[in-house]
Amino acid sequence: MNYLATTVHKSNWPFAIVARFVALLQLLSLFLFASLFLYGCGNDEPADNDERPFVVTTTNLIRDVVENVGGDDVRVVSIMGPGVDPHIYRATPRDFRRMEQSDLVLYNGLFLEGRLSEILDRLGDQSRAVTGSIPREQLIDATDFGGAYDPHVWFDAELWTYVVMDVRDALIKLLPEREEDFARRADEYRNELLDLHEYAKSRIQSIPEERRIMITAHDAFQYFGRAYGIEVRGLQGLSTATEFGIQDVTRMVSLIIERNIPAIFIETGVSTRAIESVITGVRDRGYQVRLGGSLFSDSMGALGTPEGTYAGMFRHNVETIVQALSEELQPSR
Ligand code: ZN
Repeated sequence: MNYLATTVHKSNWPFAIVARFVALLQLLSLFLFASLFLYGCGNDEPADNDERPFVVTTTNLIRDVVENVGGDDVRVVSIMGPGVDPHIYRATPRDFRRMEQSDLVLYNGLFLEGRLSEILDRLGDQSRAVTGSIPREQLIDATDFGGAYDPHVWFDAELWTYVVMDVRDALIKLLPEREEDFARRADEYRNELLDLHEYAKSRIQSIPEERRIMITAHDAFQYFGRAYGIEVRGLQGLSTATEFGIQDVTRMVSLIIERNIPAIFIETGVSTRAIESVITGVRDRGYQVRLGGSLFSDSMGALGTPEGTYAGMFRHNVETIVQALSEELQPSR
């Protein structure tokens, strides 16, 4: 059928225009449907003839660990891509399909994936929380948040090495004949993370002491602050699922003015509304605060970019923070 062949006759022009508009809409929806279908058949689905174990992770942060430890011995996909907020993420039919087809589902746990808990429970032994082996005394208490502990453990690179070892054990269980390879890669990656840990410590300590304070929209950086010696304040609490109020904004505005804080940060995947209202609030009182840049909080960047790996994402955050807080604040005009 040729949708665009309708000719506009002078006698029935209003009808013809409407018909043409409807035809265009139909074409557009066909196109949308086709692209969704093609997207749904992306090449990260396991091929039928691929015998390797298929691992599904919730966040792309965990996928990065599996890639580093598993190498080419396993296939791995994460159901959450760049900029996806795990606190409020709901599984799609495609996610359910993938999880059911998988040999193993790895998730963060500590109530990070709040809306996936039902399906994760249902998977039983087929799923595993990668934070399970972190000593409980090293976790930050978060009883206010509803969960027992703060789930954002990846921002302490040393703590994240527990996750590397946990993933190693899970993969060995899945494919015992590759034990040596998994153990060797896990050790190498662990050392890389420990180097990253030392680098972050020395970079953050290079910020003048009185300016070592970072303000973000949601409270994802408590582990980062504890590990690298920087005070951390979040406007929204531990989960993005909680709203911020006018009182939170006022409190933050006063803090910025009192402490002469030069910059505050937005996060990828989190609404910028909260941080924008703080900046406006500071300006309304005749002071200035800069937007220090964008930090990755609960997901990494796109595959194929430097921030698409844990190490790249981590370095981006450290350098963004150091640069924004080291610069003098321009006097207000
Ligand atoms: Zn978070």
